[in-house]
Amino acid sequence: MNKNPLRFEEENWRDLDELKKEETIISLIISPLEEHGPHLPVGTDIFISKMVAEQVTKNLQKDLPNVRCLVLPIIPIGVAKPTADFPGTISVQKKTVRNVLFDISRSLGQQGFKYLIIWTFHMDFKHLKAITQAIQKAQRGNKIRMCEPLSRFFYTQDKQEITHAGEQETSYILRYHPQLLDEKYHYLSPVVPSNFETIKTAYKTIKELGATQGYIGNPADASEHMGDKLIADASRYCTRYVKDWYMGKSVPELPKKIQRILKFC
Ligand SMILES: [Zn+2]
Repeated sequence: MNKNPLRFEEENWRDLDELKKEETIISLIISPLEEHGPHLPVGTDIFISKMVAEQVTKNLQKDLPNVRCLVLPIIPIGVAKPTADFPGTISVQKKTVRNVLFDISRSLGQQGFKYLIIWTFHMDFKHLKAITQAIQKAQRGNKIRMCEPLSRFFYTQDKQEITHAGEQETSYILRYHPQLLDEKYHYLSPVVPSNFETIKTAYKTIKELGATQGYIGNPADASEHMGDKLIADASRYCTRYVKDWYMGKSVPELPKKIQRILKFC
């Protein structure tokens, strides 16, 4: 039986060796465990990354029937300094994320694999910088091509305000993991995003800046519809992105504003 997607950890080395590398796309989720307010689970970013990755994999199976998707186990690490003073956040150094990703890509490249997609819904600038650096370094070695589509989606949405565990992420958990949502989210008062869009945010934690409950935005505004829309929009965007990237077409960069911020991270 032709399993698609394949789970890397379930295969033996001979089966992996026999895969047609030009027609195999590997997916890897790297997102941290991180506090998401008093109402959402610390795995929120991992869950969202996983759901979008799975949807995109399904779409690829339809649109590119020759392609096999190969899924690596999730790596639950990331740079999460702005929330590192809350219980539940496990933050690692930028160079750790960069090295882990680069080393994995090098190892896969040596085995002949050509395409690796990195998935993260953790939009911390230092985390994205680490991923970007790993991708650039891997590209120079030229063995394996990598991309990271979700940040492109996230930062090209209409609403670009800084939020964390706000209405969008709360909507996702409400829609797809309601048993993990603390029902008191209805009573959480809004925390205004614009107060956090200052240069200080690069150096201080969100708790120090006033988000003492660990969220920014308005969780009480969450709806199942918004949760559905997030997954549908992100999956549509990322499917197109991955298809273009796989076929060697040009793909969108991060917006200039975000690229400038990343330079200083
Ligand atoms: Zn999040």
